[in-house]
Amino acid sequence: MNKIFVLVVEDEPAIAETIVYSLETEGFDITHVGTGGEAIDVFRQKVPHFIVLDVGLPDITGFDVCREIRKTSQVPILFLTAREGEIDRVVGLELGGDDYVVKPFSPRELTARIHAILRRAQSQTRSPVNEPEEIRVGRITLLPDRYQALLDDADLELSRYEFGMLKVFMLHPGRVYTRNQLMDLVWDEPEAALDRTVDAHIKTLRRKFHKIDSRFDPVKTHRGIGYSFDENSA
Ligand code: CA
Repeated sequence: MNKIFVLVVEDEPAIAETIVYSLETEGFDITHVGTGGEAIDVFRQKVPHFIVLDVGLPDITGFDVCREIRKTSQVPILFLTAREGEIDRVVGLELGGDDYVVKPFSPRELTARIHAILRRAQSQTRSPVNEPEEIRVGRITLLPDRYQALLDDADLELSRYEFGMLKVFMLHPGRVYTRNQLMDLVWDEPEAALDRTVDAHIKTLRRKFHKIDSRFDPVKTHRGIGYSFDENSA
């Protein structure tokens, strides 16, 4: 079974040690770093399932780290703050933090919050409630409720991952996604998938376009980086 991978970003050794110990006891797989820069490095190598993020870090603030991460990922983030105050709260949650705890906190409080956020995140990704009914760009129409993708009126008959990638692309035309980002956004267990998996699914996705129109391909390859969706070719 794959463990839940939690990134802990905390510069105070005593606090970090308590957090790491209690999360390991919960069965989570932990990476601990003490600076914002290292946190972003770890994030770029492997997207965690969850991030515990201290606000007061020695290099950049936890808010800066959150802002950077939110450019590409909706991974749940729990802020740790030393000050009780509306400013931290508002700023943190506006930036896309999921919750925060104020130091000092008990390990039990921390793990309870994490479990609550993970449950919430899971039910949101599974619930169709927030899905738009229809996404249309150029000649392609997606019906997320039905996992159906149409090119003109023809059903592309996409697999789940092909569909998921096309949806990500079409929601943000022009944005370049790395393979890791696509895996994080689309795959159920990204850590089990290889970079090549994304390439393979892009290939089959293109093949399905070509079955209907041999010249149709709105997916652009960015060599050494990843893929994007070109709305002008759609
Ligand atoms: Ca700190």
